[in-house]
Amino acid sequence: MEQLVRSCYKKKSGYVFAKKAEDIAREYGMSRIARLASNENPGPLSPAALEAAEAALRTVNRYPDERVNVLMNALRSTYGDYHFVTGVGMDGVIETIIRTLVDPGDQVAISTPSFSFYALAAMGQGAEVVTVPREADFSVDTKKLIKAAKIAKITFLCSPNNPTGNATSTQDVEEILAGIEGLLFLDNAYVEFSGIDYLPLMKRYENLVLGRTFSKVHSLAGLRIGYAFTPRWLPPWYQRAGTPFTVNSVSAAAAAAALGDKEHAERFIAHVREWRKRITEEVKYPVLPSDANFVMIDVAPHTSDAMVEELARQGVVVRSCRSFAGLEDHYIRVSIGEDWENEQFIQVINSL
Ligand SMILES: *Cc1c(COP(=O)(O)O)cnc(C)c1O
Repeated sequence: MEQLVRSCYKKKSGYVFAKKAEDIAREYGMSRIARLASNENPGPLSPAALEAAEAALRTVNRYPDERVNVLMNALRSTYGDYHFVTGVGMDGVIETIIRTLVDPGDQVAISTPSFSFYALAAMGQGAEVVTVPREADFSVDTKKLIKAAKIAKITFLCSPNNPTGNATSTQDVEEILAGIEGLLFLDNAYVEFSGIDYLPLMKRYENLVLGRTFSKVHSLAGLRIGYAFTPRWLPPWYQRAGTPFTVNSVSAAAAAAALGDKEHAERFIAHVREWRKRITEEVKYPVLPSDANFVMIDVAPHTSDAMVEELARQGVVVRSCRSFAGLEDHYIRVSIGEDWENEQFIQVINSL
């Protein structure tokens, strides 16, 4: 029966997941693993979010609110009078926006190397994917991107970029917005760690979407909830294209409460800034400048996979960057974890 499966899925491999800490622990007989592969907040969720989630759990005999008002209201009271859409993680938002705008054969442009899901989701919709490589220092050549993305329905740009860690300036983003005909999806999964504010651009451009997630700074990765700032015209069409009741009531309630706990986020952001600096100073390989809660490290002459394997053997899970198309084979991506995890990482990598 497998002849029934679409050829695009047979030709390309799917999303590459980080190796599971439990599997590594079993494989090497270890009790404690430093988990630095998925850019999560290693700390628990905000107590307010936990309480809201528990209360919402008591209501799950009913379908959730299809307008996700509890979260929409929290977003408006946090950020002001903007337009939002929500989804099952930012991944769900990305998928639904593609479904809303892209017909088979339409172009989708992606600034690479970057997060792999843009291409997978675009391919699933039958798009023609145009990749636009970054410069040698991983900055974005705006002219080159505009030229290649001119007629694309959607252009994906990640800032701060996963996995390279660097951010694109608001001026450069503005130049891109003015130069392309389609929509710019600016993936801001890590923007809280950067100090850059793209929000003023929302009022001035009709073609900008800022993707956000609760999976990183807010400690809610397991609840799968994300959102985006959108232009006014987009939400009604997004609702029409989207899966009904896709955001569940527990996730929506937890996310709304998490937005209110600014201290929870700020504590982690301060921790990240401190450790980015320490890792950059103490690791003996070149650490690239990062505006995110992870750093990319050039481990040449070793290969990405060999280094990841060696670190795993010593109880530290990091991400090999081999699966990021357009990147050479000697980078690893390391999340900022708890103190003991970061210390263990520095000690192990410097001893190799
Ligand atoms: C983690 C991540 C996301 C999405 O995360 P969700 O868990 O689906 O909200 C999106 N973009 C980038 C670049 C990410 O690293």
